[in-house]
Amino acid sequence: MHAEWQQLATVNQLIIALALDGTLLPYAPRPDQAVLDRDTAALLDRLAALPAVTVGVISGRPRALVDGLRARFPTITFAAEHGVWRFEEGSWTAALPPVPQLAEIEHALTALAHRHPGAFVERKSCSVCLHWRGVDAEHHDQIATAAEVMVDEWLETHQQLERLPESEALEVRHRAAHKGAALNWLRSRVPVGTRVLAIGDDLSDEDMFVGLRDHDVGVLVADKPRRTQAGLRLPAPAAVHRFLRWLIEARSKNVVLAPEDLVIAQPRRLPTQARLIVASNRLPAAPSADRKREVGGLVSALLPALADTNGIWLGWSGAERDPGLRLRIEDGDAFTRAQFDYPPTWRQRFYAGFCNQSLWPLLHAFPGRVRYVDDEWACYVEANQAYAKLLVEAGGANAEIWIQDFHLMLAARELRRLGHRGRLGFYLHVPFPPLDVFETMPWAAEVMTALLDFDRIGLQAHRWADNFYATALGLLGPDGERRARERVSVIPVGIDPDRFAEAAQMPPSAEVGSLETMLGGRKLILGVDRLDYSKGIPERLEAFARLLEKFPEWRNQVSFVQVSVPTRSEVPEYAELRSRVESLVGRINGAFGEADWVPVRYLYRSYDQESLAYLYREATVGLVTPLRDGMNLVAKEFVASQDPANPGVLVLSKFCGAAERMTLSVLTNPYHVDGVAVDIDTALRMSHADRVAAHASLRTTVWEDTANAWARRFLDELRG
Ligand code: UDP
Repeated sequence: MHAEWQQLATVNQLIIALALDGTLLPYAPRPDQAVLDRDTAALLDRLAALPAVTVGVISGRPRALVDGLRARFPTITFAAEHGVWRFEEGSWTAALPPVPQLAEIEHALTALAHRHPGAFVERKSCSVCLHWRGVDAEHHDQIATAAEVMVDEWLETHQQLERLPESEALEVRHRAAHKGAALNWLRSRVPVGTRVLAIGDDLSDEDMFVGLRDHDVGVLVADKPRRTQAGLRLPAPAAVHRFLRWLIEARSKNVVLAPEDLVIAQPRRLPTQARLIVASNRLPAAPSADRKREVGGLVSALLPALADTNGIWLGWSGAERDPGLRLRIEDGDAFTRAQFDYPPTWRQRFYAGFCNQSLWPLLHAFPGRVRYVDDEWACYVEANQAYAKLLVEAGGANAEIWIQDFHLMLAARELRRLGHRGRLGFYLHVPFPPLDVFETMPWAAEVMTALLDFDRIGLQAHRWADNFYATALGLLGPDGERRARERVSVIPVGIDPDRFAEAAQMPPSAEVGSLETMLGGRKLILGVDRLDYSKGIPERLEAFARLLEKFPEWRNQVSFVQVSVPTRSEVPEYAELRSRVESLVGRINGAFGEADWVPVRYLYRSYDQESLAYLYREATVGLVTPLRDGMNLVAKEFVASQDPANPGVLVLSKFCGAAERMTLSVLTNPYHVDGVAVDIDTALRMSHADRVAAHASLRTTVWEDTANAWARRFLDELRG
């Protein structure tokens, strides 16, 4: 029995799908400088002449740069722009409409390219690509990081687009513009059951490999092993040529010859026993040693445990594919990343639907905002089953698994059904509501039963744990309550306070450094939140207006800066909230503003944590007033960033997990507008001695409940 790839010599019908640059041709500094040499042209001619073989070239290049080749090789099928443009029946057709919004990011990337000689931007109809192959190698990291940060921020509000890292380039493209779709198109043109040989070299080619089926052959072109969905590896375009020449010979003579000088390697496989697998709905961005890319608190907290155990983080890539759900495994510096794409219905039904429009308001105890849809619940069950399967695929039946958050509350039940034997932990990052709210969910008892299949359940605060016990009792009786009490540990999530303390002392970036001029000596009141209805932003604005009414002496003496980070724009309620907040800001500024004073500065954008640390430290009052919040990290970051000798004052909602241990803040009831106004006034007037004493106590808590302590405590409890 010959290896799968040797059988390519004798299978009847065959598709050969080839990437161009980096696969058939070595990379040139610019795509338009890559020339098709005589040898490669002769090879393509011979391939194209093979009977029962369909040759497809699926290139990332723009259409104009593929068209010349297409004319030169009339029997080869061509696709450009990762398959957006396809040549069929005598003309180019587009599989997707153009994406005009790309003009914005093209503009921003072009400005970046101008600052780096050798860089350039290539615009295609459904994507924009920044290339830096021609930039001095020592500046590659700098341009890559700047581009990533810029693009990721823009993508927050452009969900149909995605970022694709490529070899010394970065591409922003429509999510549906990928080579997997182009491969499906090639398949649709040949008899059903035709085998595929796909050869490609960069990440965009992984989309082809993901689409391969049993008995198809994927070949990665890379000089070193790396995680890939391809089953085989060749080191360079020259080896691809040798391999294809062998294939031509073997198919022409209809005999199987072993290629002589060909080294064809298996790529690296998964570690067989990953001790810890962390799973969250969305896979976080990869941390990397040499780039200053920001890593969330959760990721850095889990890094030591993942590194110790050769761990894996599994989650959604952010993309959608049909059929989706194929695991892509990539080695990272710190941990192995296992990601997959959603099947097409999940974003709407599972993520935006059941997770964000049923569970989020339910768990935050906003029953008036909840809606239940049977199809969405069915999709939630399906997604939890699929995650469980992928977890077993990635780590086997004995791995220790730690599930993050409410998207995956049924995972333990599904894992046990699949025969998983390792320890299973679950951490809920959001609140848990009282029984009479939770039981409005038609599947409340089923979800509670499934939660109790976890060995350990972590909650942020005793307030949520008490609700959890009462709900278990109400839904499942005394045995349910007993099981709940055995499993729940209250372990508050924290931050890395040293990082904020250090960052707050650094000189500000130009972006936030202009704040001082804007303040003109006035006191800063600061709010920082995702623009979510749970954060109580309209209520906070009303309270600020009430402050100016009740205590007119503060007019022109304070400025309220509200940073609101765009979030969940696909859920209609968030768009409504945005316009409500914007009109409130307009109303307040209209009512109270003076020629030299804008009372509220509203910033609908996000900042990096260094900039936030500076803003926190500049603030006299930190206004953290969620209507309900599992923990609230902004409260902790605010405290960590203060100058202990002259700290600002934290006004904190009673209804967030953070309030349980941060009792020396000015605790406030965000629903009571008059009360919050009085509490802001109290904070503004607090004496130096009171501020220093309160801050010292808050500081102790923030430095005790760090992100690292949280991860260690949870894993100890899970293992214990
Ligand atoms: N954040 C940020 N940039 C911003 C605003 C917020 O990086 O412009 C971060 C902030 O530092 C904090 C997180 O977003 O770590 C918000 O966490 P929190 O627990 O307060 O609320 P969540 O958004 O998780 O509900």
